[in-house]
Amino acid sequence: MTPNLASPDNPDRPDRPDPLRLSQRSQSIGVSATWAAGAKAAQLRRDGVEVFDLGPGEPDFPTPAHVCEAAQRAIIDGKTRYTPAAGVPELREAVAAMYTEREGVEYSGQETIVTCGGKQGLYSAVMTLVDPGDEVVIPTPYWVTFPEQVRLAGGIPVFVDAAEEDGFALRAEVVLAACTDATRLIVLNSPGNPSGAVMARRELERIAGFALERSITILFDECYADFVYDDAEHVTPLALGRDAKAVTVICGSCSKTHAMTGWRIGYVAGPRHIVDAMLKLQTHMTSNATSISQWAALAALTGDPEPSRRMVTTFGERRHAILPRLRALPGVSCTEPKGAFYVFPNVSKLLRGTVPTSSDLTNLLIDKAQVVTVPGAAFGREGYLRLSFATSMETLETAIDRMGQVFADLVA
Ligand code: PLP
Repeated sequence: MTPNLASPDNPDRPDRPDPLRLSQRSQSIGVSATWAAGAKAAQLRRDGVEVFDLGPGEPDFPTPAHVCEAAQRAIIDGKTRYTPAAGVPELREAVAAMYTEREGVEYSGQETIVTCGGKQGLYSAVMTLVDPGDEVVIPTPYWVTFPEQVRLAGGIPVFVDAAEEDGFALRAEVVLAACTDATRLIVLNSPGNPSGAVMARRELERIAGFALERSITILFDECYADFVYDDAEHVTPLALGRDAKAVTVICGSCSKTHAMTGWRIGYVAGPRHIVDAMLKLQTHMTSNATSISQWAALAALTGDPEPSRRMVTTFGERRHAILPRLRALPGVSCTEPKGAFYVFPNVSKLLRGTVPTSSDLTNLLIDKAQVVTVPGAAFGREGYLRLSFATSMETLETAIDRMGQVFADLVA
């Protein structure tokens, strides 16, 4: 029987209040633009269209064999039950050992937590640290999910711009200038999505020193930690020294480094009281991350690093090959990404007339050239496009050629 109620499925009864209404919270956010680009590409493929997809935020490499074998072993050995909600102790210890060795700052397994992908680690950290009305500094261009996670927690995103002249590498002074007594959290992401910018040591040290002075937490997303090119160096706020540990929450992920996007394993390292609070949330939200994936992640973190290194080398070659091609496109300029696997070309000169926004340009590229990109506006910066080079050289070359034809028509 059709319910006699006004609802999106039954709009004929506007006189009735809708008891099936959605929460304000769910209506206050939009769907992830990067996810939407992927969905669009998938739909076109289903329709039989050949698509040149520069949207993906995931490596086009297979998960390394030793990681897959560890997962198979875990299944055969019956490691298929609930694990502790914070993760299997062996994996927590491996995460702690990785940070202790890399950062020179001691972490114990209990100062880490295993999450269902980096995304859940970040969300859980935000939900643990941010109260309604708290301000959270988020640099632009940002990863699409940061502001929405903050809004879901009732926090107020305060945006600061990384300068294009600096290759979008964030300067400490813009972050410090945006902090007020209401600032609870500073979100940093280096290497960054969408710009590929890598933050400099001195800027991170300055922000960490300031955060210590003002008791502000830094949520540091380093899911692209291993994707750095040429002379770029991956640095975290812990560069300041062991004191910085008190204000730093690091979120990492197996997704990109080990080509494990589908396995959903992330991890967080931070002060014990924050990790414990995140654990309380986790016991009610997700319980443990998939047991099988956790054993696979242990093999990824402790096993042969070569497959991951080879992948990063290939990405570096692609970056090198596509930059001059992009810069030669009509109306386009492009900073050099020092990390991650994205380029963020400036297309503002093309945005006029019937194509006033980056979103319009993305649609035009799909319609005219079957090239999928993500609009800069989704990352808080109108006038840019995000292109992923986590796809074959052949696709990249064809896509850039096709973009060139569309852009040439626009500037003609
Ligand atoms: N952080 C950034 C900047 C990302 O780009 C992504 C994925 O695209 C994530 C975090 C989350 O990745 P995952 O949840 O797969 O670990």
